[in-house]
Amino acid sequence: MIDKNSVIYIAGHKGMVGSAIWRTLTKEGYVNLNGISSRKLDLRNQKAVRNYLQKIQPDVIIDAAAKVGGILANNNFPYEFLMENMQIQNNLISEAHYLGVKKFIFLGSSCIYPKLASQPLKEEYLLTAPLEATNEWYALAKITGVKLCEAIRKQYEKDFVSLMPTNLYGTHDNFDFTSSHVLPAMIRKFHEAKENNNAVVVLWGTGKPMREFLFVDDMAAAVVFALENQLPDYLYNVGTGEDLTINELAATIQKIVGHTGDIIWDTTKPDGTPRKLMDVSKMHSIGWKHQVDLETGIQKTYNWFLENIEDFK
Ligand code: GDP
Repeated sequence: MIDKNSVIYIAGHKGMVGSAIWRTLTKEGYVNLNGISSRKLDLRNQKAVRNYLQKIQPDVIIDAAAKVGGILANNNFPYEFLMENMQIQNNLISEAHYLGVKKFIFLGSSCIYPKLASQPLKEEYLLTAPLEATNEWYALAKITGVKLCEAIRKQYEKDFVSLMPTNLYGTHDNFDFTSSHVLPAMIRKFHEAKENNNAVVVLWGTGKPMREFLFVDDMAAAVVFALENQLPDYLYNVGTGEDLTINELAATIQKIVGHTGDIIWDTTKPDGTPRKLMDVSKMHSIGWKHQVDLETGIQKTYNWFLENIEDFK
């Protein structure tokens, strides 16, 4: 049984997702949380991972650690994206198995699903067709993680489960224009343009693609749900099940930020995949649903951005 005194190790606890999980668990009264910075523990090093985990003896491991990046990084460093992500998760999964932890929660991303899968994406579409070429390295690593957890579950009847979130956003997001995703990029662009006499904002692509967004605290709540309940299956999508066009997203963010200038769409920039919507009926069927609507989540993210604006100058 997991209780509020269980020893929980959160790998990647400084990241956007890991820190949200930490905050949520603290709020829920969990008192034995553990995390260690990548400077002190290189998760690619199996011996170091073993030493650390033997020292803390976790009951639960939550794997929110990964080498992540946008289209460009994935394209330029395919070997590192495949190898380092496999090293990190292999070390955590194999040591978790070796130590006999009670629960292992593995986090991935919707990019594990085939490029041309029908929408919304169901869990059963995994490995039914080729992946999107630009992020297949990251996706392949994550798929092996899902499969390792499934294998341990099947063979050893252990409570290892994988959660695949849709596009996440929120506090502690990445607001760097060259590497960020669309939502934080737009918050920053509209804010800076507002400060600059409502200058024109240049956005990428046509604005026509559709995306789904989940506030990171909702993702953390899904992790707590998976922690406190024994989920009956090995793989669950986590999202809102609702999407909108990039154009609609821009209008929403523009309103919240209070920018009144024009928008220009730079169609020399790529649109990316036309649609990426998760089917979340499996999570809904076992009792989890998102709580934070998009406007509230954007407002909270914008507030956090304003509170930390010095870091983005
Ligand atoms: P994706 O979901 O993996 O395609 O990644 P992104 O979040 O980076 O992009 C989603 C969509 O938003 C794409 O169609 C982009 O062209 C579009 N977009 C519009 N403006 C921006 C921007 O300023 N930054 C980013 N990253 N994407 C933008």
